Amino acid sequence: MRAREMRWLSLWVIGMVAVTWAVMAQQSRRVDDAVLKNASKSGDEWLTYGQNPGETRYSPLKQIDVTNVSRVGLAWSYDVGPGGGSQEGTPLFWNGTIYGITNWSVVFALDARTGKQRWRWDPEVNQAAVRPKVCCGIVNRGIAVYQGKIIAPVIDGRLEALDAESGKVLWEARVAFPQDNYTITMAPRIAKGKVIIGVSGAEYPVRGFFAAYDTNSGQMAWRFYTVPGDPSKPFENAAMKKAAETWDGDWWKMGGGGTVWDGMAYDPEADLIYIGTGNAGPWPEKLRKSKGKDNLYVCSILAVKPDTGELKWYYQNVPGDSWDFDSVQQLMLTDLIINGLTRKVIMQANKNGFYYVLDRVTGAFISAQPFAQVTWAKGIDQETGRPIVNPEAHYDQNDETVTLAPGPGGAHNWSPMSFNPSTGLVYIPTSTSSTGTFTVDPNFVYKPGQTNLGIARGGRGAGGGGPDAGGAAPDTQPTAPAPAPNTRPSPPAIGPPPPEGQRGMLVAWDPVTQKERWRAPGGGGIGGGTLTTAGNLVFQVIPDGRFIAYNADKGEKLLEIQTNLRGGMGPPITYILDGKQYISLMGGTGPVPPRGGGGIAAPPAQRKRGLEVEKV
Ligand code: CA
Repeated sequence: MRAREMRWLSLWVIGMVAVTWAVMAQQSRRVDDAVLKNASKSGDEWLTYGQNPGETRYSPLKQIDVTNVSRVGLAWSYDVGPGGGSQEGTPLFWNGTIYGITNWSVVFALDARTGKQRWRWDPEVNQAAVRPKVCCGIVNRGIAVYQGKIIAPVIDGRLEALDAESGKVLWEARVAFPQDNYTITMAPRIAKGKVIIGVSGAEYPVRGFFAAYDTNSGQMAWRFYTVPGDPSKPFENAAMKKAAETWDGDWWKMGGGGTVWDGMAYDPEADLIYIGTGNAGPWPEKLRKSKGKDNLYVCSILAVKPDTGELKWYYQNVPGDSWDFDSVQQLMLTDLIINGLTRKVIMQANKNGFYYVLDRVTGAFISAQPFAQVTWAKGIDQETGRPIVNPEAHYDQNDETVTLAPGPGGAHNWSPMSFNPSTGLVYIPTSTSSTGTFTVDPNFVYKPGQTNLGIARGGRGAGGGGPDAGGAAPDTQPTAPAPAPNTRPSPPAIGPPPPEGQRGMLVAWDPVTQKERWRAPGGGGIGGGTLTTAGNLVFQVIPDGRFIAYNADKGEKLLEIQTNLRGGMGPPITYILDGKQYISLMGGTGPVPPRGGGGIAAPPAQRKRGLEVEKV
């Protein structure tokens, strides 16, 4: 049925330079550590999720530029199959082939010249069994290519290595089981011959982790849990011993949370991989008996050694999280000149509304300022790097209802941002007026194997969790009756005021001065995403189906195409083929059809309005 088809699009600009043999020769090269490390230099191919290990989504290609971008038109499209739903994957381009993955983890390879399918591999996920364990959207964000293999995650917890030429399975590893409430939605990354992958699902009672697998054999090299386990058993490492001191009660019986479902980056010179961790579970710290405790390492950025998984430093964005402030958003590495010194930085536009700049070698805090409306905190202490939380935000300790900004959907969620070194700007798909209303569930009872938010029904406002937000779908909320309203006014707002009637903006942010340079309407923190190029361009895919180009320095719109893919979009990539620059993106039409046992199968019409605007 047409309305439920999933689509693949490829776009190109007319009038190009001739093919060069040098380009052809480069395209048959093997992807190894050196090629990945230098991926940002030529930009001819798109070899890893964020374009390069620092995940800047910046391409040095400039054949398409501000003078000709208005002539971009459709080259070909490919139907990725029936089923509908969000197609959020970042495709890869290598060796004249486009590789992609669908929301149910079907992997495909296409001849990039024609869009003709070369192979297709279906992991045949038991959809009826897995669907109830998918907390926040049936999605898959990407794959990896390395030494002739396509490394593909499967939403049911498997990790596969496929032969890039044939699609044949070379090895399979079991990362986690859905019956343990884990799923996988993130793209794997490669570091030093290992594939790194994390697990989703912190609205369920799970203990978050990420793990490394040998790319040749599929053998697990190491696993790093993000929260401590049962303290009556030996701790896995010194980091877990330290973390256990920041928890209380019987936290491990409810998992603790801290899942790893989006942001990751790799610095080969610092020899560190960086990972963001998700919310604590249940959401209110009161239900974790954690008043005043930090609950390491939830809502944190972690730096670990790729060889061993040893923790070198951590920075906790949200100590004692009570607001579903997953801190898994895109982690971006670059060098910035700050106060006259060149700093090697790691940056994040967090769900919680603050833009963070840290020293990526040491983890030292450099700066953080709000890029969207924020009411949960007064700011970030510029000495300690800890948030100055407004007392009203502790709804659980106060037994009050309060509406806070941002809400669980976040000011920025998984929608990829990009950094252009020429303009010095980061392009952030931003939800400008996300809010959530929080009330602790007075009748909370822990339910094994189910969502355990600990928030009373009706206690979540517009811009709440929902698909891909790292929150839970509305129909999986607890069933406690709405408590007597003991409502507290929202604390005062900081950050750029949201424009009237505009929920989503593309924000061009200067990370050195921590100030907005320009903004353009459309999009938001969930869905679609951006790409920036040496052609002084920013490309943005918006979840309502539009593909837009702006000049990167000023934010003037130069192109707008309606793709009619309105069921959930992924970010664009760019590459050179036969001497021409192309842009490709994925999108879906229609919802995932309901099947099997409930879970998140609610069609969009039954979802909350705040979710429809951002997601559907
Ligand atoms: Ca979450």
